[in-house]
Amino acid sequence: MNFAQLALIAVTIGCLLHGPAVLAQATDAPPQDVDGVIAEGTMSPAACQQRLADRHVTFSFTPPVVEGDCAIPLPVRLQSLAIGADDIPFSGEPTLDCRMAERLADWIGNVVAPLAQHHLGAGLAAVETGPGYVCRNRNNEAAGKLSEHAKGNALDIFAFALNDGRRVAVRPTDQPTPAVAAFLAAVRVTACGYFLTVLGPGSDAAHAEHLHLDLRLHGRTANYRICE
Ligand SMILES: [Zn+2]
Repeated sequence: MNFAQLALIAVTIGCLLHGPAVLAQATDAPPQDVDGVIAEGTMSPAACQQRLADRHVTFSFTPPVVEGDCAIPLPVRLQSLAIGADDIPFSGEPTLDCRMAERLADWIGNVVAPLAQHHLGAGLAAVETGPGYVCRNRNNEAAGKLSEHAKGNALDIFAFALNDGRRVAVRPTDQPTPAVAAFLAAVRVTACGYFLTVLGPGSDAAHAEHLHLDLRLHGRTANYRICE
């Protein structure tokens, strides 16, 4: 056998090896990354279950939302987040897309609870939220763009309850203690590291009494954030 024949055999084997693999790739289910996130952006229920369980979130799956233009691919209703021995309820039991729920759990558990301890010397006891999902336009306007709430991609937070009985409202009070003011400022700044839009008191009239957090992409990537 000469070199040319050997080369031909090698090429033939190469084609046999690669051919079926390409076909299989084209006909298989959408590619998934290692975490089970389907490439076009929908998380599988199993991946969602795993991710929220890993974060000690108590939740239930709800039927997919399809209501006119409003839709949530994988909605979950959040009940609480366990931090150590404490179970921190979300008072509004918000309905959110799983990805938003995951991000929220990370922020509350990793950042907000330690900030409460640091600035206020108390543990987090509850997070007062809105309902998450609402089928409406931005700022409740009759015309205009669909709100991120209509996609389960947004949550409003009104207050944090502490385990010493205090309640820290997002709405500014006349004379907040320096510690409360520092806590709220830190909460708001750190939210910008987890969410792509953060609005609150001072942003506009519609957000005077709550923090609005959402995951809407403002460009093709998550690099551009609205952090007001
Ligand atoms: Zn909102």
